[in-house]
Amino acid sequence: MTMTNTERSTGGGATLIRNAEWVVAYDADGDCHRYLRDTDVAFRGDRFVDPGTLDRTDIEEVIDGRGLMIMPGFVNIHAHPGFETMLKGLTEEVGSRKLWMSSLYEYLFLFDTTSEGMVAATQVALSELMQSGVTTVCDLSTPHEGWIETLGASGMRAYAAPMFRSGRWYTENGHEVLYEWDIPKGRKRMETALAEIDTAIAHPSGRLSGMLCPAQIDTCDADMFLQAQAEAKTRGLRIQTHASQSVVDFQEIMRRHGRTPVGWLDELGLLGPDMIVGHGIFLDHNDWLRWPDSHDLGLLAETGTSVAHCPTVFIRRGITLQHIGRYLKAGVNLGLGTDTYPHNFLDEIRNAIYAARITSRDVAEVDARSLLHVATLGGARALGRSDIGRVSPGAKADFFTVDLRHPTMRPLYDPVRSLFYSAGERPVRDVYVDGRRVVKDGTALAFDIAAAMDRLEAAQRVSAADVEKYDWGQRPVSELMPPVL
Ligand SMILES: [Zn+2]
Repeated sequence: MTMTNTERSTGGGATLIRNAEWVVAYDADGDCHRYLRDTDVAFRGDRFVDPGTLDRTDIEEVIDGRGLMIMPGFVNIHAHPGFETMLKGLTEEVGSRKLWMSSLYEYLFLFDTTSEGMVAATQVALSELMQSGVTTVCDLSTPHEGWIETLGASGMRAYAAPMFRSGRWYTENGHEVLYEWDIPKGRKRMETALAEIDTAIAHPSGRLSGMLCPAQIDTCDADMFLQAQAEAKTRGLRIQTHASQSVVDFQEIMRRHGRTPVGWLDELGLLGPDMIVGHGIFLDHNDWLRWPDSHDLGLLAETGTSVAHCPTVFIRRGITLQHIGRYLKAGVNLGLGTDTYPHNFLDEIRNAIYAARITSRDVAEVDARSLLHVATLGGARALGRSDIGRVSPGAKADFFTVDLRHPTMRPLYDPVRSLFYSAGERPVRDVYVDGRRVVKDGTALAFDIAAAMDRLEAAQRVSAADVEKYDWGQRPVSELMPPVL
């Protein structure tokens, strides 16, 4: 263990990380990060403090910072911890070739589980996220028993984003997507979601908040979007919806409204700094669409709308945003998310860079610096927060330490580059949220992971056995997702 509590005194409760070898510190003038070398970092309670202002008697704990990099905690603005982990080994290689490679319409709703299964999946997913440096997560889930308690128990900063919708998609043949609507049921789901959000906000930890989440652009009616917006305004919360996540949703919204998904959100008055578009891949400039106009990107930029970019789940199917560099240059605020498993934020960062380089055919289009920004400050901005995603006096003490002596980090020339391109989560040592340690020596502390894994595995077995009940062709899992060998 590199981090040691070497000194303790009875003082004012501050923790001093002495002589941190590298610090990714916030530069308020440039709204960016910069490296500091061999410098002290301190926090008291839930906030960073200027180490220069600490009196000796203020310091309760001293951590030896030699051999460590101090990183701002990552901000994950889009995740589905409640079920994605259950799909491991099953859905990596499926997608509908007759529906533009998307897995949404034939495969997403094949798996059902219980609240207990969802809680187990969430415990595993949140632990994985923290172990890859994530300190804030937006959890887009269907409300279930034990959900808010699990978020609270994790120690993370979490936004409960209970999904609701008035329609559902389905297919009877794997090449046509149909919709079934039930407006009153949708309104009831929205009321349930609002109650969950209010429970999260009232959580005694003060670490939980909420987000309005009309689930998808093609499964919510216009009134539902407008009501969600009004409820978000009343509570001072953000809204997020999945939109432009497939060629299918682009064409469906065009068929219904004569607008692109982004254009329709604009027409409804939904775009703005309070809005996060989940994915935003199939904008009208995307060359899979061969659309004659190119207005969507400008609309997102002008209105200050954020995009939640989740590269891994899409690149598995040959799909990617075109491309991060173009979005950033246009002035669109981007945050990162883990729409799938593994819940490994450093994987997402690396995949985002490589996908952008392939798509742009340009090595200079994005770099580690721009992804560091997106993964921290971009996410914070999407959530309307100036107190997370940065190591800075006054900000929340949400951060993690990286073991610079770990073999995956050596030889050490530039630690962020080594972390992103070579090491991944392996040298992540200790993670703090609100100044409280939630990961120690690479292991998340909140849950009994082995027990959660057993419950998750049992839930996966039951769920996989039931797949044929939900498939349009009543195909069993062995036919839909045959084993590799
Ligand atoms: Zn999603």
